Amino acid sequence: MYTPSEHRYDTMLYNYCGTSGLKLPAVSLGLWHNFGDITSLANARAMIHTAFDLGITHFDLANNYGPPAGSAESNFGKILAQDLGGYRDELLISTKAGYDMWSGPYGEWGSRKYLLASLDQSLKRMGLEYVDIFYSHRFDPNTPLEETMGALETAYRQGKALYVGLSSYSAKKTRQAHDILKARGVPVLIHQPSYSMLNRWVEESLLDTLGELGIGTICFSPLAQGMLTDKYLGAIPEESRAGKEGTSLSKALLTEENLKRIKALNEIARTRKQSLAQMALSWVLRRKEITSVLIGASSPEQIKENVGALDHLIFTDDELKEIDKYAQDGNINLWARSSDEK
Ligand code: NAP
Repeated sequence: MYTPSEHRYDTMLYNYCGTSGLKLPAVSLGLWHNFGDITSLANARAMIHTAFDLGITHFDLANNYGPPAGSAESNFGKILAQDLGGYRDELLISTKAGYDMWSGPYGEWGSRKYLLASLDQSLKRMGLEYVDIFYSHRFDPNTPLEETMGALETAYRQGKALYVGLSSYSAKKTRQAHDILKARGVPVLIHQPSYSMLNRWVEESLLDTLGELGIGTICFSPLAQGMLTDKYLGAIPEESRAGKEGTSLSKALLTEENLKRIKALNEIARTRKQSLAQMALSWVLRRKEITSVLIGASSPEQIKENVGALDHLIFTDDELKEIDKYAQDGNINLWARSSDEK
């Protein structure tokens, strides 16, 4: 039996999401890895408990998280029913559709047919009547943007999603999507792009656009899938994302150049009396446009360490200059195909 900590709201920082009235925790938890059927449900449960006890109210999912696809939502649904049934109004739950989910022509991309059927499936798997945020997971170059945004509008009007969002859209496509939805009376709450010290594409124009349009920003893979932690400073641990076969973090991304950057950044983190993971998260949060960092984890301890980033958020100009020497594009953006669509 789980009873949430009485102190869960004592230390977490909550930021308004863009110009909306909705606050997000500065650190949110994503269920992409380590919540599917191939991993331990007991560990998944312990991670959700630890997160909620630390004030993490936002849990991010997608239809295809697992493996197998869909199982992260089903497992999250089990944990909700078992432990958090009475806390639905304290939770912000998101899901998405856009990537490959089921066979045939209606199981991926951005058609109205796919998005609305997928949302219904997600709600069923999680045992929910509504999600707080429903995202278009990626831009679809072969579907009119009006159609994809129309599907988000329908989900919003049906009350199946309280807010809608975009993920990995370029600045230009974000503005177009925003304009379409605005004309229909629906605000775009949030954008979910990848952003980290080794993947800075959002700085080119997306963050400025989001700031101007009043859209909030939640950055995924802020630890570069674990590369921006101390775990790859030595040999690659077998039980790490890069150590396991067939995961989204290929060993090939741990190039000599990237390892040099990571080692140098680790030294800077030490002078700040933070772990590298904590500095990587504080660094993403330094930009005023950022509402939340969306972390992943494989243990409750990692979540505790990562939330510790909030104890030291301020950087001096000298520290930022020093970080800039090493925080350079490491060719790790696996989602560029979507955001490259200009
Ligand atoms: P991340 O925070 O960059 O990486 C998380 C991984 O790093 C963990 O699973 C763990 O891997 C390792 N780690 C975390 N904290 C650590 C620590 N303190 N010390 C050592 N290792 C640590 O984020 P991510 O998992 O790539 O993505 C986070 C979330 O973003 C996802 O769950 C999902 O919700 C979202 N996302 C969205 C999209 C999209 O297209 N919208 C794409 C990707 C992700 P080990 O297994 O090695 O321990």
